[in-house]
Amino acid sequence: MIIDGHVHTPFCPHGTTDTLKSYIENAILKNYQSITFAEHAPLPPSFSDPAPDKDSGMDSNVVEAYFNAITKVKEEYRGQIRVLAGMEVDFIEGYEEETAHLLDTYGPQLDDAVLSVHFLKSSERYHCIDFSPEAFDVAVKDFGSTQEVYDAYFSTVTKSVEADLGKYKPKRIGHMSLVRKFHKQFPSPEEWTRPIPQLLRLIKQKGYELDYNGAGMIKPLCGETYPPLHIANEAHNIGIPLVYGSDAHASTAIGQGYDGLDSKLING
Ligand SMILES: [Zn+2]
Ligand SMILES: [Zn+2]
Repeated sequence: MIIDGHVHTPFCPHGTTDTLKSYIENAILKNYQSITFAEHAPLPPSFSDPAPDKDSGMDSNVVEAYFNAITKVKEEYRGQIRVLAGMEVDFIEGYEEETAHLLDTYGPQLDDAVLSVHFLKSSERYHCIDFSPEAFDVAVKDFGSTQEVYDAYFSTVTKSVEADLGKYKPKRIGHMSLVRKFHKQFPSPEEWTRPIPQLLRLIKQKGYELDYNGAGMIKPLCGETYPPLHIANEAHNIGIPLVYGSDAHASTAIGQGYDGLDSKLING
């Protein structure tokens, strides 16, 4: 029985139009016990989306329809599969207050949520690090080196764990090694894992969980889970719960990467 804590929906501006029902039907076929729809929350109103297509977050006008649609399928599939209403909330350095405000607004409707870092702040601007290899390259040039991009990434993830975002702050940290998405084209610095032990200790201390995300497995320039197995093991060993996330943006992607992770780490 699979618990999937990270699934996207037709409300995603960069995903597919596959219906909630089509995700759920595939989840039932794959013997899922639980599915969390975790659409990208609207970005803070004063933040300008640096992704070239400006399509990173849900439009705030559709949030109500989003929650209503989930409530409907929740009822419809009751007894067959547990459906949770969630969001993937961005942690953006410098926008903590607006993010806390968003969480205060949507939090009461959330059963579950993921906190993720997709944007990094350089001295000049923000970069979306997982949009494309080209956008990653621009970030490397702006920060000065791959090393500096990694430093900024892990320091931002650390800040996301430490941040006070109010009582609805998500308890699960999304794809904590997303900076590795294009590592076959932009090799990671040799000692890229150096900040990991301290970061894991902090996550443990806060009582948070990790999104054990399968999406990187099928990305040709990545080929591993977020985080990779050795880090997942390390997290498990210090008692951090890991929750599988397919990060599906299409109904056929339900279950993606599951075969590439160590299911012992998630089932006890
Ligand atoms: Zn997405
Ligand atoms: Zn994400």
